[in-house]
Amino acid sequence: LMQLSIPLNFIGFIYREIRQALTDIEQMFDLLDVPAEVQDRPGAAPLKVDKGHVRFDDVAFAYDGDRPILKGISFDIPAGRTVAVVGPSGAGKSTISRLIFRFYDIQEGAVLIDGQDVRDVTQESLRAAIGMVPQDTVLFNDTIAYNIRYGRPDASEEEVRRAAELAQIADFIDGLPAGYDTMVGERGLKLSGGEKQRVAIARTILKAPPILILDEATSALDTHTEQEIQAALDMVSRGRTTLVIAHRLSTVIAADEIIVLKDGRIAERGTHHALIAARGLYADMWDRQREASEAEERLRLARETD
Ligand code: ADP
Ligand code: MG
Repeated sequence: LMQLSIPLNFIGFIYREIRQALTDIEQMFDLLDVPAEVQDRPGAAPLKVDKGHVRFDDVAFAYDGDRPILKGISFDIPAGRTVAVVGPSGAGKSTISRLIFRFYDIQEGAVLIDGQDVRDVTQESLRAAIGMVPQDTVLFNDTIAYNIRYGRPDASEEEVRRAAELAQIADFIDGLPAGYDTMVGERGLKLSGGEKQRVAIARTILKAPPILILDEATSALDTHTEQEIQAALDMVSRGRTTLVIAHRLSTVIAADEIIVLKDGRIAERGTHHALIAARGLYADMWDRQREASEAEERLRLARETD
């Protein structure tokens, strides 16, 4: 009977979350598929990362000439700080992360890291400076140790273990039949979405990049798993310049600045408290998500009392 009281908008919420998870998977392939047209400039120098300050200076971008995706985007992520980008699906959030990696060249403005235009530095050095915890981690058909060590191939066994502990996956690994030598991936042990994401976090802790991009995609996870993962994500982003792309707003409350993107433009920006007080788009999104998570909680309770 309880289940009848679940609001219809919860169904809409589930539908949107599933659809988002599917587009995220598509976008991951976009991200891996580095376009061939982006080339190092002759004589490009390696990026010199001093503190890891990221700047978008009046950026305009379109994947193909006639449909602008980002317009007039300016923001700073001061060294060691966290900026969150939120907004509806298709707003251009993932595009921003691709531009930091220079997977595409922009049409106007500049993307700068510690004052260096990403077009002026080698792509190899640029990508070495940035770590990404993607929305959906694909594991190699190899041991779990290999999958973590991929972040830094010369890491010692001790360092791999330490990274696993920080990512809160060490206990899980210790419980596996062959521990760190357990084969995982398609042809090995299948890990859950949350476990795979923690492997990706351990990998990133080991890589220890100065700049971090978290495309959380916790939309595919339940609230409980999300909270566990959030603690590990907080750990890895501490003291690093971090861009968080968030679907669930509960994960961006502590960001130094939240940018609300809509149709490729910055619609609102500020801290969580300022945006709530402004009663605009962000406040609406917040209200809707709270209703949805309350409905989710009611559903969980109803299931438990069955
Ligand atoms: P978000 O991450 O906010 O959901 P995206 O940055 O992925 O949005 O996409 C913004 C817009 O760019 C969408 O309209 C999307 O369809 C379009 N888009 C994304 N990737 C490509 C691509 N590789 N080629 C052409 N259009 C794309
Ligand atoms: Mg996206």
